[in-house]
Parts: sequence; C-alpha cells; structure tokens
Amino acid sequence: GETVTVQELAEKLKKTAAEVIKKLMNLGVLATINQEIDFDTAALIAGEYGVEAELKVAVDKEALIMTEPEDDPAQLVPRPPVVTIMGHVDHGKTSLLDAIRQTNVTAGEAGGITQHIGAYQVEHNGKKITFVDTPGHAAFTAMRARGAQITDIAILVVAADDGVMPQTVEAINHAKAANVPIIVAINKMDKPEANPDKVKQELTQHELVVEDWGGDVIAVPVSAKTGMGLDNLLEMILLVAEVHELKANPNRPARGTVVEAELDKGRGPVATVLVQNGTLHVGDTIVVGHAFGRVRAMIDDKGRRVKKAGPSMPVEILGLSDVPEAGDILVVVEDEKLAREVAEKRQLRKREEILKATAKISLDDLFKHI
Ligand code: GDP
Ligand code: MG
Repeated sequence: GETVTVQELAEKLKKTAAEVIKKLMNLGVLATINQEIDFDTAALIAGEYGVEAELKVAVDKEALIMTEPEDDPAQLVPRPPVVTIMGHVDHGKTSLLDAIRQTNVTAGEAGGITQHIGAYQVEHNGKKITFVDTPGHAAFTAMRARGAQITDIAILVVAADDGVMPQTVEAINHAKAANVPIIVAINKMDKPEANPDKVKQELTQHELVVEDWGGDVIAVPVSAKTGMGLDNLLEMILLVAEVHELKANPNRPARGTVVEAELDKGRGPVATVLVQNGTLHVGDTIVVGHAFGRVRAMIDDKGRRVKKAGPSMPVEILGLSDVPEAGDILVVVEDEKLAREVAEKRQLRKREEILKATAKISLDDLFKHI
C-alpha cells in the first residue's frame, strides 16, 4: 500500500511532527519523524484533528492515484497515432470512417466488422492507426472539459461541393485550442461539382494554408464513396505521427480515457477505454471517474476477447461498479480498498454538487418569482 512519512503528514495537517508523534503514541504506534506510516493510520491521525483534515487526506489519496509516475525514456516505444474525425454535418465523417474501416480490415477480422465500440484500429503498411468515432464535437468537448486529451491528429473533413461551413470552423477552433495537428480531407471528390480549390481558399481565412499554396497544412482529396485517396490519407496520418514521435511505455500499469460508456442490460456497466500509456490486463483493479472495479473481461474492436491492451488500443471493459462518463480517466490501483475509497469519495462529491446546483436553481427560481 501507499505510505506517508510522519513529517509529510504533519505538514499536511499543519501540525508539528512532535504533535503527530504524540498522537501516534496514543494509538500505540511508536514512530520517528522520517518513519513511513500507512494511509489508514494517517487517516486516523487526521481524523483526530477533525473532518477537514480527513477530507484533505482523502484528496491526497486521490492525488496519489492520479499522479502519473514519470517514464524512464529508455522504456518508451512508438505507439499508434490516435485520430479523431471532425467536420461539418453531412460532409462525410461517418462515411469516411466506415470506408477506412472496411478497406483496411484484414481477412481474418472480417467477421467483426459490425462491432461498434466507439473506436477502432486499422493497419496500413504494417503500422496501426487508431480512429475514434464517437459523435465528434460533443465527446471532444466533454473530454476537453475534463482535461482529457486523447487525440494526436484531427482529420478535418470538408465536402468539396460545399466548402467551409460553421461546424468546420468550430472543428478548426477545437483542434487549435487542443494544439492538435490538422490534416484536411477534402471529401466527395467524386462529385462533378467538387471544387477543392474553393475549399483551400476558404481554409486560408482560418489560418490553414495548404502545402500547394505555400503553407504547411496537408490536404488530401478523397472520396468516401469510391475509396479514392484513402490510402494516401492513411499515409499522411502515419507521416504526421512519425514527425510527432508518439511514444508510450507498455511496461507499466495502464492509464487511459473513457471514450464512451453505457449500462448494458446483460453485461452491466460497459466502458470503451482508450489505453494511453501502460498495459491494461484482465484482473486489474481500476478507478474510472466515480466508478471502480476489477477488469472482468476486455473486448477489442473486432469483438474478440483479449487479456491485455497496450498503448493506443481501444477496448471495451466489463466489471465496473457504475457507468463512468466520456472523458473520465482510468487508472490502475494496486490496492482495492483505496480504489473503492476514491471512487466513493467522488460519488459523494458528485452528489453534493448536484444537490448544490439544485438548491441554487430553486433559490434563483424563487427570487425570479418575487
Ligand atoms: P457526416 O454527417 O459528416 O457523418 O456525413 P455522412 O457520412 O453521414 O454523409 C452525409 C451524406 O453524404 C451521405 O448521404 C453520404 O452518403 C454522402 N457522402 C459521404 N461521403 C461521400 C462521398 O465521398 N461522395 C459522395 N458522392 N457522397 C458522399
Ligand atoms: Mg455522422
């Protein structure tokens, strides 16, 4: 389990180490200033100083599980890029994702094509690419609100027969705010009225200058309908990924982000998680937002049961106590008690926030009517 030194605990409680040592003695624990004591003992001591101190230790426990240990650079290996498709409604986001998935699934995986878990991986020239296909903006916004960054590259789909539209601009702003590189896919090139030059011209008004106009933005003409340009698009994704040297350490406990989650009638809470660092294993104890549990089973994007999931791999996980939210962060915790405790504290906090919000609304309503 996790420990804290007497000195650290004293600092957290704003007491002297001598006072803490005395309290410990009352509990029958003989300790020196640099001695490590476990969290349960620490919580007991904190409790002696009142609820506030107890809460503080709870928050510290949360910080403890959320703090990401730094990776030894020697342990880092390349990982697949995680790509999100954005763009105006009807410009072909879904069609493009479907076309990429269908043309790049190897024969043996064909049976799993219909499986939908909110994210999938394809292979191009022996290299993997992860696509996130949750309904773009909403999920992206929810994740950003939680500080979760899962996307390495944004594909901006612009229909060649329609050009830059309001949600195109919104998507550009999202990607820029998140500091995510953009690749433009000029879609519907099969249409006679396709006008890629008009698209490129309109993009310059939003500080996206394509390469053949002297800028550094890659634009790829494609057709989700005919499949034209899709290989080129995947090629460009891998190129941008290479430039950004995306890496992770598969040899550590997993950390990931929820892409989507739901309550399944038969299976209980199901969450699609994108593993971002480390490797997630069946049997791992996890905390995911206000939910916790032990990974009972994992299913990949082809509908196959898997025992482990490494960096950039999307998987469905079963075994959670509750349904988490998109954008919630998954961490592996060795201590099951600690996992439960942090999740329960978060549930409590959530309930309090809802109560507060409700109270505020009814008060506001009251004043409105006076
Ligand atoms: P989304 O709203 O961005 O997900 O767009 P959809 O993928 O649902 O596509 C909107 C419409 O455009 C559908 O009727 C598609 O069949 C059509 N569409 C998508 N891509 C292409 C394309 O490359 N060529 C043509 N001709 N139609 C397309
Ligand atoms: Mg769609």
